[in-house]
Amino acid sequence: MTAPTPRPGILDIAPYVGGKSSSAGATRVIKLSSNEGALGPSPKAIEALQKSATRLHRYPDGGSDILRAKLAEKYDLEFDQIVCGAGSDELITLLIRAYAGPGDEVLYSQHGFLMYPIAAKGVGAVPVTAAETNMTASVDSILAAVTDKTKIVFVANPNNPTGTYITSAEVARLRDGLREDILLVVDAAYAEFMTGQEDYTAGAELVAKGDNTVMTRTFSKIYGLGGIRLGWCYAPPAIADVLQRLRNPFNVGLPSQEAGVAALEDDDFVNACVRHNSETREWFREEINKLSGLKAHPSYGNFVMVEFPMAEGKNADAANEFMMARGVIPRKIGAYGLPQMLRISIGTLEEMQICLQTIKDFIAN
Ligand code: PMP
Repeated sequence: MTAPTPRPGILDIAPYVGGKSSSAGATRVIKLSSNEGALGPSPKAIEALQKSATRLHRYPDGGSDILRAKLAEKYDLEFDQIVCGAGSDELITLLIRAYAGPGDEVLYSQHGFLMYPIAAKGVGAVPVTAAETNMTASVDSILAAVTDKTKIVFVANPNNPTGTYITSAEVARLRDGLREDILLVVDAAYAEFMTGQEDYTAGAELVAKGDNTVMTRTFSKIYGLGGIRLGWCYAPPAIADVLQRLRNPFNVGLPSQEAGVAALEDDDFVNACVRHNSETREWFREEINKLSGLKAHPSYGNFVMVEFPMAEGKNADAANEFMMARGVIPRKIGAYGLPQMLRISIGTLEEMQICLQTIKDFIAN
C-alpha cells in the first residue's frame, strides 16, 4: 500500500509542542510554561461561559458580531475591520493562507514565535529569519532580509520568548521601509502587559493608516482564556473581507464568544492582572538577578527569560529537569535557538516564591 503524499513543506514542519502541564511523580504542579493568565479568567467570563451551556445545541453566530461590536467599542475601532478567530494562531494561519503560497517568503525576526514558520511551511512558503540586536527585533535587519519573494513580515511586539519590544516609531519605520505589496502583521498578543511605555502602541493606528498592516490580539494572555481559543485581528477593510471569506463558517464557538464579551466588560479584573504581572515580574527578576551566575532578562510580557550558566550540571537543561522533578514547570526554548534559557511565565506570588526557592535549591545543589 502507498500512503498519500502530503504537499511539499508539510513534512518539514516540527509539530508545535505546547508547554507541559504535568510532571511525573510531582504531587503539586505549578505550570509556568505557556504564558497563561496568572489569576485565571475573570469570574464574569466564567459565569457567562456556564450560562451558555444550555444553548450548546445551537451553532454560534458565524460572524461573532456581538463580540466584534464589544471589541470595537472597547478599543475604539471599526466593527467591519475586526475578525475573530480560534486563538490568534488561527488568524496567523489564515493570513498566511491568504497572502503567501509555494515558494513565497514569510519573514520574521530571529527569535520569533514558532507559529510563523509552522503556518508558512503549511502552505509551501519559506520561513526566513532576520538577525536581532540584543534579542530585540531589528528593523534594519528585517528590511535587509526582504527579497522579491517576501510576502508577509511578522513582528511580535512584545516578542515571545525574548520579552523585548520595539517602539511604535520603529514599527512605523519598518512599515515605511517595506514595499506596499508586503503585508506587515503586528502580533500584539502581549500588548496589554505594556505599562508606562510612552512610545508604545499596539499598532491599530498603523492599520488605520494604510492598506497593508494587520494587528493580531488574543484573549489567551491578559484575559486568562487560553482554554477557549479566542483571538482577533484588526485589518484594513479589504484584508478583513478576505479573512471573512477564508475562515471556517463557525470558527469561534458560542461559549468562547460569550465568555469573551463578559471578559471585555471586567476592566477591574484586567487592571488587577496588569498590576499583578508588573509587580510580580519585577520582584521575581530582581530576586533571580541576586543569584550568582543567573540572569533574568528584562521583559515586557507576562514571562521572563532566565539565563543559566553553560556549565554542565548547572545549565538550563539541568535546571529544567530539577524544577520539573519538583513540579515547577518552565519552558525550554531551545527550539527558538535559546538553549541556555528557560522561559518562566509569571504566576501567582505564591507560585513565583516556590519557583524562586526551587531555583535557589538547584543552584545550591
Ligand atoms: N503570538 C504570540 C507572540 C504568542 O506567544 C502566542 C501564544 N503562545 C500567540 C500569538 C497565539 O496565541 P493564541 O492562539 O492563544 O491567541
